[in-house]
Amino acid sequence: MVVLNQLRKSGGFWLKLDDVNILHDPGPGSLVMIHQLGLKPKDIDAIILSHRHIDHSNDVNVVTEAMTGGGFAPKGRLIAPSDCFVNDPVVLQYVRPFVDITEIKPGLETTIKDVRIMFPIENQHPVETYGVIYTFSSGRLGYIPDTEYFPELLQAYSGVDYLIINVVRMRTDKRIRHLNMEEAAELIGKIRPKIAILTHFGLQVLNSSPEYQAKMILQKTGVEVIAASDGMIFDFDNREKNKWF
Ligand SMILES: [Zn+2]
Repeated sequence: MVVLNQLRKSGGFWLKLDDVNILHDPGPGSLVMIHQLGLKPKDIDAIILSHRHIDHSNDVNVVTEAMTGGGFAPKGRLIAPSDCFVNDPVVLQYVRPFVDITEIKPGLETTIKDVRIMFPIENQHPVETYGVIYTFSSGRLGYIPDTEYFPELLQAYSGVDYLIINVVRMRTDKRIRHLNMEEAAELIGKIRPKIAILTHFGLQVLNSSPEYQAKMILQKTGVEVIAASDGMIFDFDNREKNKWF
């Protein structure tokens, strides 16, 4: 509902790790937001989809075109679960020759320049879904996208310095297989990154003030927690430079 009514932007997040640019989960509006924020699609080195749901993949084709100059300058990578390419594929056939495609499998490791990218475990969600751990010069960054809570997540993401975590609900609804705030707090408290960033809020979370929830998790766990907002820039090296729009 938050995406469908655009109560928050849904373009995913842009990572600049050392000199590698990665667009993660380009949902509806991603191309528009890229331009509004003054970023350039042709700078993207890789697009990564955690899973095929439309709030994570809607703009994958148009951004692939934009990244490759309308397909005239093939470059870059597209890394996504295998079910993004078969039966009702979210990655259209005609854009596939524009990029180097990698299908994610649990445990897959790959590198782009000096950035190491690892997909430690398959999440528990209605479609094939993978989180990721990036290793770059400032440390290890984990991203836990849509999933039901399951204890193996703790081991899979242990030792990350930074953790981005999708928290959709305040109360669990078994039908939609998402983390609730208490489960996110549990993961943060046990994984213990230096900083955790909450994102992908559903209506219940928006109505419960994501900023207040972040403060509560800090009090409970002692881990610094930030609630993401549209256009937020987070600088891993220069925290004082961080901007909230
Ligand atoms: Zn999903």
